[in-house]
Amino acid sequence: MPALPQVQLQAILGQLDQALYNHEQWTKGLVRALVARLPADVTDLRPDAHQRCRFGQWIESGEAEPLRQHPTFVALAQSHEQMHRQAAGMLRRGEEGLPVSAEEFDQFGNSLDRVRLEIQSLRRELSETLQNRDVLTGARNRVSLLSDLREQHALVRRGVQSCGLVMFDLDHFKKVNDQYGHLAGDAVLVATVSCVQARLRPYDRIYRYGGEEFLITLPGSDLPTAIATTDRLRVAVAEQADSAVTATRPRQVTASFGVTLLDGSATVEECIDRADRAMYAAKSGGRNRVECWSAEPASPEQGAKPA
Ligand code: GH3
Ligand code: MG
Ligand code: MG
Repeated sequence: MPALPQVQLQAILGQLDQALYNHEQWTKGLVRALVARLPADVTDLRPDAHQRCRFGQWIESGEAEPLRQHPTFVALAQSHEQMHRQAAGMLRRGEEGLPVSAEEFDQFGNSLDRVRLEIQSLRRELSETLQNRDVLTGARNRVSLLSDLREQHALVRRGVQSCGLVMFDLDHFKKVNDQYGHLAGDAVLVATVSCVQARLRPYDRIYRYGGEEFLITLPGSDLPTAIATTDRLRVAVAEQADSAVTATRPRQVTASFGVTLLDGSATVEECIDRADRAMYAAKSGGRNRVECWSAEPASPEQGAKPA
């Protein structure tokens, strides 16, 4: 599912429900016309009937644009077109006074089932995505965090791949709220997530761990790569706030980052704790920096929460 803001996902879900309703209404009308041998709707006889029904109009519309590359959406558009071709065939027979064969009707029925199934499957994926996203920032929430991490952890344990784990927390964020107000603070959180997300690979994930604290997974990254990636994120976060200078916005927002790897010989919870400790070491070390967890603390402050 594309990374879309919550409101857009919600809107697409609504359109999909409306599309399903329109499709069911169309099906009812078609079966009625066939059974009662009523004259066919001329639109249904056209070669582009699949683009003219209300469901087809939605498929073609800009509203459905974000889904256009989605494999289920592509399959749905094809099944829908095929279903219309089969419907037009049956209607034409009716017009000619010929009976519709059982085979023809069954083929149409199969396409109809496929269309319904694909709509439901898209719907399910959209609502799962919605359920797993933080409403404000669009980052993943904690609903699926532990199960996702356990999956990665299993791959690490089996030696399939390493996985970088990064915890970051905005610096002096309380001051931002105090000085510019909570709404400006919210805007900074949204901008920060979109800034970070834009620099991650498609299979990296960002989770909102707490208020202004986020966790990132970097599958396939070894420690040096995870550190280098994290440092680029740190610079990007500090610079994006710089470019957003207005009278109502903070001059600069920075974040402190802690990096570790998912360790197959430790629990997932311990690994999160290591990333957290490294992040606090970055706070103690002066903020706006990246620290890496190590079994031997690099400095006496490592692991100690700053005052
Ligand atoms: P430090 O550099 O040590 O992290 O300092 P800090 O001020 O960021 O840390 P502290 O934990 O004292 O403050 C975190 C602040 O984040 C307090 C809280 O009001 C704010 N915060 C948490 N969630 C949200 C949110 O959703 N929106 C806004 N605007 N503020 C939030
Ligand atoms: Mg903070
Ligand atoms: Mg915090």
